[in-house]
Amino acid sequence: MVNSLQNMFLSTRQLNELQLRRLNNTLQKCRESILYREKHAGYPLKTENLEDISLFPVTTKEELRQYAPLGTLAVPPEQVVEYHESFGTTGEPISVWLTAADFAQWTQQIEYCAIGFNPGDTVLVRFPYAISDPAHIVQSAAKKRGACVVPVSSRTVVSPHTRVIKLLLKLRATVIGCLPLEAILLAETAKLMGYDPARDFPHLRGFCVAGEMLTDSRKKLIEKLWSARVYNMYGTTENGNIAADCSEGCLHAAEDHFLLEVLHPITFKPVPPGERGILAVTTLTLEACPLVRYVTGDMVTLNPSGSCSCGRTGQIVQHLGRYNDRLEINGTTIIPGDLQEAVLQTPDNLISSLWMIGVTGNGLVIRAESEQPGADTASARAFLSDKLKIPVKLELVPIGEMFDRNKLLEVSPVIKPKYVANWAAGNRNPRTLDRLLSGYHTF
Ligand SMILES: [Zn+2]
Repeated sequence: MVNSLQNMFLSTRQLNELQLRRLNNTLQKCRESILYREKHAGYPLKTENLEDISLFPVTTKEELRQYAPLGTLAVPPEQVVEYHESFGTTGEPISVWLTAADFAQWTQQIEYCAIGFNPGDTVLVRFPYAISDPAHIVQSAAKKRGACVVPVSSRTVVSPHTRVIKLLLKLRATVIGCLPLEAILLAETAKLMGYDPARDFPHLRGFCVAGEMLTDSRKKLIEKLWSARVYNMYGTTENGNIAADCSEGCLHAAEDHFLLEVLHPITFKPVPPGERGILAVTTLTLEACPLVRYVTGDMVTLNPSGSCSCGRTGQIVQHLGRYNDRLEINGTTIIPGDLQEAVLQTPDNLISSLWMIGVTGNGLVIRAESEQPGADTASARAFLSDKLKIPVKLELVPIGEMFDRNKLLEVSPVIKPKYVANWAAGNRNPRTLDRLLSGYHTF
């Protein structure tokens, strides 16, 4: 039974009661997996209060890799209906199995996003459909609410960027679900095709984005590019969608589905409320692969919802990027969220949406495409050095220099299999196979 959207508005007492009941269910059911049968041996099967979660050991990515594909499964294999994998930058993929009820819970977590799919919406799902889950659950949430889904997927041979722009116009699409970077690349493509993304897509009312850290400045940048709202969603393949933007643009946690802790990145001890640390997640509604104190590796802060006027009671998550992506330069630590914010707040609009960071001996060099490549950068450099507490060089290059825009316009050849040859022209062998193996694609 999937809980109602009203759970977003539970009082603290109601939420804590629900969480405790679900936590105890998870602590019991997780022992059906090999991982937790071994890991939780000697630990209690239930707790009297939520704080006691800190008495249980954390679960790491390495453990999930080690026990993949079946060691994390807590239900009989015949009960699962879907499988996904997450790839880290290193090592084996992590296996994620879902029961039908799990998929329904994941769908509901997407419904928490204030994009609010409706009948009459046409939703272009530009997340990859292969192996990873966001495309499938965004599609499910949109269809459940009566919207029409166009499953364009991430860039493939049949869905190059130009086709997405044509579909947007032809279908008068109202919503795009994609990575933040993809929203920027689609805007670039629209410009190359002669359109103004802020003016020529009036039916497009918003983006729901996921899969990448999105700071406030980057969200504003995409909103300005398209003249449309951007709603952020934060999740992981292992857990589902942990938090979604409300109507006010705050990323509220789905605390009826997750018990969240912020831990010190080295000691894994809880940090004081509101401070930065690594997010650990205990799933409260997953059946197939429940997780207890799963260390995501993402830097976050968690703050009470009181500052948001939307009425939701879930804590507000600020996602600051992966801890392993931090930079350590001469004793100064810079985390991705701070770096992205600093770059995008650079004064005088010197930096466009495309930039890269290089680490030099004792500082950083920021190379960016700019509308004003010859501009004086002294005050911008001073701003960035002050903000990041290290020396920063700024290298501005003309728009178009950092990547070949023509690649956005490229379309791959697509063919249908053919079994009839032009005998008179000397074709005696199956050209379909030749072509498939030399860069052509079929579908
Ligand atoms: Zn809110």
